[in-house]
Amino acid sequence: MSKKENEKVNGKLGSTEKAIEAVREDPLADTSQLISQEVPPGVDRRNFLMRSAVGGAAAVMMGRSVSTQQAIAKALATLPPEPQAAGPKPPLAADLNVVKKGQGPVLTTADEFYKVGPGPSSSHTIGPMRITYDFYQRATKLPADKLAKATKLQVNLFGSLSATGKGHGTERAALAGLVGKEPATVDPLFLDSLRDKPDQVFPVKLGDKSINVSLKDVIYDATKGDFKHPNTMTVKVLAGDEVLLEQEYYSVGGGFIEWKGYTPPKKNPPKYPFRLMKELRAHADNNKLSIAKVILANEMSIAGRTEEEVYAFIDKIINAMVATVKSGLSMSEDDVLPGPIKLHSKAATVYKRAMDDKFAADKGIGALSAFAIAASEENGRGHLVITAPTGGSAGVMPSLVYGLLEVRKVDRQKVRDGMLAALGVGYLCKHHATLSAAEGGCQAEIGVASSMAAALVATAYDAESRVVENAAESALEHHLGMTCDPVAGYVQVPCIERCAFGAVKAWTAYAIASNEIASRHRVDFDATVMALAETAKDMNSKYKETSEAGLALSVTLC
Ligand code: SF4
Repeated sequence: MSKKENEKVNGKLGSTEKAIEAVREDPLADTSQLISQEVPPGVDRRNFLMRSAVGGAAAVMMGRSVSTQQAIAKALATLPPEPQAAGPKPPLAADLNVVKKGQGPVLTTADEFYKVGPGPSSSHTIGPMRITYDFYQRATKLPADKLAKATKLQVNLFGSLSATGKGHGTERAALAGLVGKEPATVDPLFLDSLRDKPDQVFPVKLGDKSINVSLKDVIYDATKGDFKHPNTMTVKVLAGDEVLLEQEYYSVGGGFIEWKGYTPPKKNPPKYPFRLMKELRAHADNNKLSIAKVILANEMSIAGRTEEEVYAFIDKIINAMVATVKSGLSMSEDDVLPGPIKLHSKAATVYKRAMDDKFAADKGIGALSAFAIAASEENGRGHLVITAPTGGSAGVMPSLVYGLLEVRKVDRQKVRDGMLAALGVGYLCKHHATLSAAEGGCQAEIGVASSMAAALVATAYDAESRVVENAAESALEHHLGMTCDPVAGYVQVPCIERCAFGAVKAWTAYAIASNEIASRHRVDFDATVMALAETAKDMNSKYKETSEAGLALSVTLC
C-alpha cells in the first residue's frame, strides 16, 4: 500500500486533499500541492506542469477531489504531441578545414574576409562564382588530348545551394564564373541580363575547343543527402558520358570556398598569435596597443604587406561600403526588388522621414536603419556588396561606416582602426563557429555582422580593449538562436530589415558597453562564440537557409 493510501486509511489527509480543503476555505490559498512536482520522462516540462496545474485547479473549482496520479494521467492525456526532435545536425565532414580550423592561431587576412561581389548571398553567389572560376582555371590545364574530346561543362548544386539557389541567383553566379567572371569585377548588369534573357549561350575556350554553356548546364540537384557541407556543388568537364575532370566544392560561408582534398595555403606566422579574444586582448593590453593595432601587425606579418598596403585595402573596402549606402539611398521609392515578393524599396522613404524635423527624436535610429536598408536592398538587387561577413548581412557594417564618416564626421583613421578591430571579431567567429547560415542560421550572419559593427563603433570612439570586447560580445549574445528563413528563398524578407536591427543593436551594444563598468561585464566574448557554435550545431536544419520553416512557411505570397 502506498504512503498516500496509508494516510487515507488512517484518516489523515494526503497533501492533495489538504490542498483541496484549503482551497474550499480560501480560493486564493496555495494550490501548489495540486500540481504534480514530478515530470514524467520524455514530455515537455513546461507544458506538463501547466496542464497538471490547470487540471487540479479545475477539479477543485468544481468541488471534486483529484489525486496526484489522476492529475498526472489527465495532464499526460491532454499533452500535445512532442515536437519533432531537432533535425539532423549539420552534416559537416571532419576533414573540412572549416571544422578543423579552430585548433591553431587565427590566420585569416583582411582580403580573404572583406570581399566585394554581387549579392544577394555570399555563400550562394560569391562562393559559387569563385568555385566555377576556379574550376575553369583547372580545366584549362587538362592535357590537350583530353581537352580535344570535351563536349560539355556541367555544374550540379546540392543541399542549401539547390534548395534556395533559385532565389539567390546561384545558377547565374555559377555560369558567370564558368565564363571567366570574377566576383569583385563582374558587372551586375551581366547577371541581370542572365535573369532577363535566360537562354543566352556563351562560348568557353578550353584549349583549341570552344564549348557552349548556358544556364541549362547548371543543375539544381538533390536538396537532401549525405553531403560534406550543406553548400556542396560539383563541376565537371564531360566528353559525352565520360567524365574528363570532376571536382567537388563547398561554399563554406562568407564567400570562402573549399574542395575535396583542400589544404589551406601556407602562411607566415602572425606577430601576435591568438585563437581567443582573451589572447587577442592580452596582446593589446600587454603591449599597450589597441585591438586594431594588433590586427594590423598580424595582417602585415601573415600576408607580408606594408602598413600602407593594409590601409589601402581597408580604404577600398570603406569606400565600397559608403558607395553601397549612397547607391541604395538614391533608388526611387517606387523601385521594386527582383523576385516574387514584389518588395518595394524603402530606404529612401525611411531616410526622408528620419530627416524630417517633425520626427527629430527618431532621427538617429531612423537614419541608421535607412543606411542599413539601403545597402541591404542593393544586395537584394544583386548589385555589388561587401561581405562583412556575408551578403545577407551586407547592410550592417556599411550603415555604421557611413554614419561615422558621413554623418558624425569621425576621423577616417579611427574608422580604419574600427574596421581592423571588427576583423578580429569576425575572424574569431569564423575560427570557432561559422559565418554560414546553412550551418548556423542568421545568428551566424547578422549576429556576427552586428558584433563586428559594435567593435567598429567602440574602436572609432577610442574605447579601451575591454569595452571593445564587451560591445562585440553583447551584440552577438543578443542574436544567439536567430534562424534563417528567407521568404521564397530571396534574401529580402526578413533580411533587409534584419540588417537595420543588426545595426541598431550594434549601436546599443556600444552604448551599454561604454556606459557600464567594463570589468563587471559577466559574459566574455569567447563564451558567446562557443554558444554560437553550439547553437548552430543544435539548430533544426529546417532553419538553416532552406526556406522550409519559419517566415518562409508562414508568409503567403499572393
Ligand atoms: S535570414 Fe539572415 S541568414 Fe538567412 S538569408 Fe536572410 S540575412 Fe541571411
